[in-house]
Amino acid sequence: MDLSKRQQRIIEIVKADGPITGEQIADQLALTRATLRPDLAILTMAGFLDARPRVGYFYTGKTGSELLTEKIKRYKVHEFQQVPVAVSEKVSVYDAISTMFLEDVGTLFVVNENACLVGVLSRKDLLRASMGSQDLSSVPVPIIMTRMPNITVCRKNDLLIDVAHQLISRQIDGVPVVKDTENGLEVIGRITKTTMTKLLVEITMEDTI
Ligand code: ADP
Repeated sequence: MDLSKRQQRIIEIVKADGPITGEQIADQLALTRATLRPDLAILTMAGFLDARPRVGYFYTGKTGSELLTEKIKRYKVHEFQQVPVAVSEKVSVYDAISTMFLEDVGTLFVVNENACLVGVLSRKDLLRASMGSQDLSSVPVPIIMTRMPNITVCRKNDLLIDVAHQLISRQIDGVPVVKDTENGLEVIGRITKTTMTKLLVEITMEDTI
């Protein structure tokens, strides 16, 4: 986040003289308290300054990048999850390939008759299956999918950064977001490498922390 000259000046004053009241900061800058109010609000919201009633403002000692890191570490899965694409375990490899193209996704989740997760199909799973000479419309997806309980899943209140670590450590492109039901795990979303890339772009476009 880019701070204005005045906001930088305020941080310097608070660093040197904090805890200090808004009134005293305004005096040092020869401005009114009202003029400073938006700047103080921004600096407090962004975490550079903290304010305590009857004490005043003090410097938190955190740099912009420390604050950004803290913010990223607090992101939850449900804030970023995308819509999942699932196929029934009854469909053929041929149908799964069609769905992957039609839905424009790289990972398909396979569900049973209770709409609960039983497998995952990646691009390479489908490519590998197409290398043989068998008729793909007669091969059911359970033959080639990665199955439960070997599927890495996450839940909506998990931390996004933990899922990002799993994408890297398990070398997978996506993780289903699941909800526990009495029949098994219902797929309610997905976090993929694209989700993470989009977030990176979003962060660099934002100008407030
Ligand atoms: P690709 O195979 O197209 O590079 P991935 O890297 O996502 O795509 O998949 C690698 C392997 O891991 C595949 O066999 C796939 O079935 C499996 N896989 C994909 N996602 C998961 C997951 N969430 N949990 C467990 N295994 C997965």
